[in-house]
Amino acid sequence: MYKRGLVIAFLFFWTCIWGAGSIQAATFSTRNFIVNTSDPRAAEQLANRAENLRAKLSVFWLGKEIPTWSKPCKIYIKLGNDLLPGGATTFTVNNGEVYGWKMEVQGSRDRVYDSVLPHEITHMILASHFRRPLPRWADEGAATFTEHQSERNKYQQQLYKALKTRQGIPLDRLFAMVEYPQDPMPLYAHGFSIVEFLIRQRGPHYFVSFLDACLTREKDWDTLVYEFYGYTTLEKLQNDWVSWVEHGTPEFVGTNMISGNGVEAPKLTVQSSSLMENSTFNESVQVVAQPQTPPSSTPINWSTTHINSAGEH
Ligand SMILES: [Zn+2]
Repeated sequence: MYKRGLVIAFLFFWTCIWGAGSIQAATFSTRNFIVNTSDPRAAEQLANRAENLRAKLSVFWLGKEIPTWSKPCKIYIKLGNDLLPGGATTFTVNNGEVYGWKMEVQGSRDRVYDSVLPHEITHMILASHFRRPLPRWADEGAATFTEHQSERNKYQQQLYKALKTRQGIPLDRLFAMVEYPQDPMPLYAHGFSIVEFLIRQRGPHYFVSFLDACLTREKDWDTLVYEFYGYTTLEKLQNDWVSWVEHGTPEFVGTNMISGNGVEAPKLTVQSSSLMENSTFNESVQVVAQPQTPPSSTPINWSTTHINSAGEH
């Protein structure tokens, strides 16, 4: 848990001349973050928010708080109600160590607070835990899962749009993506939904165990999804996931889907009657070998990005 008394914090701000006008910038530091932004009060609020999220999301994903980083992460925040929410985090993975954190985010204060920071900090927690790059669908899907419901609903709408226009990405292709595609929005929308589908069945800790097996065991996807979630093949998982989406993402009891939306299920305004018949994928599923990402002995500079839910960079 984050305890204010344990945080070595300081606040200072300076005035600089930028172009024709004068702007103020402020920095506020906590144990693991150094926040730079234009407003001193926002710097303090968002630095404390980042520290608090780091603790809470660590417990959510891993069941325990990750150790203090050797050096804090610098966060550069551009605030503005006219700025679409977005961000990027970079770090280096080398010999099982992760360091060199740097984050740049933007958006309204509310969206930075409740969506962009949880998203980026989830990337950092998972990177700290796995100490290697994750498959993009899982990394972005998990990060997007922590965003505010209003943002998640936008991704859900993007997924509906893709499925209804036969632009669904087959899971074998989605799971094999190592880098961002030219248009990353479908990756986010599909990744978010499939991660939510799995988490709603067995919870976030179990999902992290599944990811660990994906990264470390030389098994194909059919074997992994059967061992962890009981789907006989990846195609069976894909079909059941699409059916779950078509039914409005209902809650599960145990691992069984129940009818009707649960309290936390996204409320979507989509006519489901025609979705299934039009939601075919643009190619059939072919199970492929699991891509392995062994710990590297040479530094990997890794970057995550958070596009806004309108699909713009
Ligand atoms: Zn991201």
